[in-house]
Amino acid sequence: MNCLSFLKPGVMSGKDMKKVFYFAKKKKFALPAINCIDTNSINSVLEATRKSNTIIIIQFSFSGSSFFLGKSFYKGNIIKSAIYGSILGAKYVHEASIYYKVPVILHTDHCTKDCLPWLDGLLKYNIDFYKSYGKSLFSSHMIDLSKNKIKDNLDICCFYFKKFKKLNINIEIELGCTGGEEDGLDNSNIHRKYLYTSPKDVLYAYKKLIEIDNTFTIAASFGNVHGVYKSSNICLSPDILLNSQKLIKKKFFIKEINPLNFVFHGGSGSNKKIIKKSIDYGVVKINLDTDIQWSSWKGILDYYLINKDYLNSQLGNPRGYDKPNKKYYDPRVWLRYSQKYIIRYLVKKFKILNCLNLFKYNFK
Ligand SMILES: [Zn+2]
Repeated sequence: MNCLSFLKPGVMSGKDMKKVFYFAKKKKFALPAINCIDTNSINSVLEATRKSNTIIIIQFSFSGSSFFLGKSFYKGNIIKSAIYGSILGAKYVHEASIYYKVPVILHTDHCTKDCLPWLDGLLKYNIDFYKSYGKSLFSSHMIDLSKNKIKDNLDICCFYFKKFKKLNINIEIELGCTGGEEDGLDNSNIHRKYLYTSPKDVLYAYKKLIEIDNTFTIAASFGNVHGVYKSSNICLSPDILLNSQKLIKKKFFIKEINPLNFVFHGGSGSNKKIIKKSIDYGVVKINLDTDIQWSSWKGILDYYLINKDYLNSQLGNPRGYDKPNKKYYDPRVWLRYSQKYIIRYLVKKFKILNCLNLFKYNFK
């Protein structure tokens, strides 16, 4: 796609991210955002992206960042471990995405009020990183104060957004809550009414954020739930997004079809019709954590079921009581199965999100 010819492999800046989202709305595509927890998951995502000649959003959650550093560190100081873990993960993505020749939007997922010191630590590190390399460590950060009053939510988000702007980092905010549970963020018992954002709240947020910059995305809830559940338990209303776009256009005299960039949380398990509708109404980023978790596990499960006679002891299998099984339990073999399942899922998803062949590196 010629309109994205300005992109280069590697982690992109907030400004380039904004341009990508502009074209996403114009060409009607969205990018998947995948929560990565280690180099294994990052490599799978980069391989799928390269195979599909496209762009990807890699994100680290608060506890996913701690996991990146290691579970033992996590017990000592959860904030410190999340800061160090996301810095380590980000550095790996910066390098690996260049080797893979893939453009990446690098993002941090839900940062609740309690986790703001995580963000403070990242910003502190980022100031030095920016001075040294002339670019930011992350393309974007999410602040999730959806459980707070909207005024507090926007006051705090704007405070950080001003800091982000200096480092060329975008902000993602959340309005209304995402149901279900993910990564320790438990909204399973929340009243259903909080799962649907009012367009008036979107207008309020827009007014506040646009005074600072237009490099923001909004996770406006339209019944979204983290995790995969029976479809009868979830009622998604993407019309909320359409009505918000209409309201902003009217109040700010904007001609652009979809002035707002929306984020679809809890995209796992969603049907094609809902995905298409949400893209039509300005969704540019779709979070797919649960489906990736399942693909990752299903690969290992299938590997085990196919090879179980070779996986119960170091010696002894149907070929003989003293035959070695080393080739079967080598983690590179069963982890590769898991990777292949993630790649297969993601390649299919790129097609559904209409984002195949957005970027092809010329290897000549
Ligand atoms: Zn989410």
